[in-house]
Amino acid sequence: MDCISRSRNILQINKSTASMYRVIPVENQDISPDKSHELLKTWELKSGQKTNLCIEKLCTNSHIEGVIVLSLDKQMEGTYIAPLCHKHRDAGREILLDRSFRLIKIED
Ligand SMILES: [Zn+2]
Repeated sequence: MDCISRSRNILQINKSTASMYRVIPVENQDISPDKSHELLKTWELKSGQKTNLCIEKLCTNSHIEGVIVLSLDKQMEGTYIAPLCHKHRDAGREILLDRSFRLIKIED
């Protein structure tokens, strides 16, 4: 099975607290590995943050990429990028993201 060509999950913020975002998968979209890498570079550049690790609360996976996260929250409505590992990109259930890392808004 070719893991590289699998479609990427788009995630959506379900709820946020002071320390974390609760995020659920909402759809699959064909985003190439190159695009995912580009999203990660954009995240690093605009956040001014660096991480080698997935920002899921307890995750220590270092193989990360830029994942699209939607927010319908009035305070931060829009499309964002989060650095996540493949396991959490494709978790298929709610996951918790550490809010000490910034989500970066994609300008469109
Ligand atoms: Zn992870």
